[in-house]
Amino acid sequence: SNNNLFSTLRAAFPSELDEIAIEATSPRGEPLNYSWRDIEHASARIANLLDALKLPEGSRVAVQVEKSVEAVLLYLATLRAGYVFLPLNTAYQSAEIEYFIGNAEPAVVVCTPDNFGWVSKIAFKAGCAYVFTLGEDRNGTLLERAAHFGDEHQVAARDADDLAAILYTSGTTGRSKGAMLSHGNLASNAVMLKDYWGWRKGDVLIHALPIFHVHGLFVAIHGAMINGSKMIWMSRFDPKAVIAAMPRASVFMGVPTLYVRMLAEPTLTRDQTRNMRLFIAGSAPLLIETFKEWQQRTGSTILERYGMSETIMLTSNPYSADARYRNEDERRGGTVGFPLPGVDLRVVDDAGKELPTGEIGNIQVRGPNVFKGYWRMPEKTREEFSADGWFKTGDVGKVDARGYASIVGRSKDLIISGGYNVYPAEIEGYINDMPGVAESALVGVPHPDFGEVGVAVVIAKPGAKLDGDEIVARLKSQLANFKIPKRCFIATELPRNTMGKVQKNLLRDQYKGLFG
Ligand code: ATP
Ligand code: MG
Repeated sequence: SNNNLFSTLRAAFPSELDEIAIEATSPRGEPLNYSWRDIEHASARIANLLDALKLPEGSRVAVQVEKSVEAVLLYLATLRAGYVFLPLNTAYQSAEIEYFIGNAEPAVVVCTPDNFGWVSKIAFKAGCAYVFTLGEDRNGTLLERAAHFGDEHQVAARDADDLAAILYTSGTTGRSKGAMLSHGNLASNAVMLKDYWGWRKGDVLIHALPIFHVHGLFVAIHGAMINGSKMIWMSRFDPKAVIAAMPRASVFMGVPTLYVRMLAEPTLTRDQTRNMRLFIAGSAPLLIETFKEWQQRTGSTILERYGMSETIMLTSNPYSADARYRNEDERRGGTVGFPLPGVDLRVVDDAGKELPTGEIGNIQVRGPNVFKGYWRMPEKTREEFSADGWFKTGDVGKVDARGYASIVGRSKDLIISGGYNVYPAEIEGYINDMPGVAESALVGVPHPDFGEVGVAVVIAKPGAKLDGDEIVARLKSQLANFKIPKRCFIATELPRNTMGKVQKNLLRDQYKGLFG
């Protein structure tokens, strides 16, 4: 049998291929529907084009284009032709693209028509043979060329261990690394999540995430496709449009900032969300305030889950009280839930020794979803696996007595002040609870006496007036002295990347000179 992920997805298409698979909108605002048959045929044409290029086995197809259904078709075509899909953040400019293309050495690069000039120069210099363009409006040379090919294609046979994609990590803690994911990694996660999240016939997904990361590309697209579910496709996130589509949909996936932005819309009501079965959040911590506000406003409880480029999904809050999973389960704000079926998760100290329940330490995982290593970084790969084969996530957290995991931060963000560990999430939680505070970030900066001290950056709610010294004074009445930030700054926003992750490295750089 063929373990090509495309075959697994294809097997889930509804028998009625004329049903709508993707409901999109053209750049001019006209409705644009794609049937399952369209998906099958259009991806076949592109796969035939790739086949005709006679690329070496394992060739990478690097793609930096705006979000469009055709970009998904290109992804599916790359899978079915048996090559390795490599999506790139649309925000990346020439220095970044030079690094990624130099590092990945793709055989094919697909970019926007606007970027062809500079991207093709970089690509050809790196030895890439083919550069195609793909625009937002079904334009560009990729589709022009593909149109000359037939719409039937025999899916390339692949083993579960063969590479399907390389996903560069978000670069939140340093230079992005290419996580090598196999057909088996992706398929196992998708099949398991279909069951765990209770996907059912008739589900409709609102897709409003970028498609160059695990969340939008794999969790969302595989989730809908493997259930034969329609997607309502939004090329960019617009809170009003998402809310307006809810009565026709049942599942939504978003990073926490998307939920915050929807909460700012008066149209978000219990009535408007009545048809929605499931709201899923992840990629960054969901504030407990957002979790509660969403519950109050809509009556729905956001299901938070945790994952990463290297592993796809790792943990999830329970979907239901279904006895197959765990009895008396519930979705708990501030936690990322249980290890998913097939995933093992443990919390260890810095020496690698497993810690007792409830203690904070380094999160390590293993399972069929864990990646094959970092592309062309064998040393880094070795470093990030324990001697007994567990992947070191780089996240710090704990598992409580009932089995709920929570993330308290990243090991790189941990602050060691005068020899004591300070977990930023704990202090941020106290600051966020203060009146007038919208959100906050605590970072460690060098200090001559303590080695490192915390510096807080706080964002006020609209209209609220905050004072940094007052916040510090208030914390002193609540927490041990070593946890108290030495300084607290009020800012207008936190630096975030496209996935809504706070870029603490930028804050650390900004404040590193404070204490000489
Ligand atoms: P890099 O590895 O390059 O520094 P990154 O880790 O941000 O970047 P991704 O793989 O895109 O790159 O993100 C995975 C990380 O996102 C996880 O390791 C974790 O820190 C964070 N994350 C994901 N989901 C959650 C969640 N629900 N709560 C808290 N953090 C989360
Ligand atoms: Mg990471």
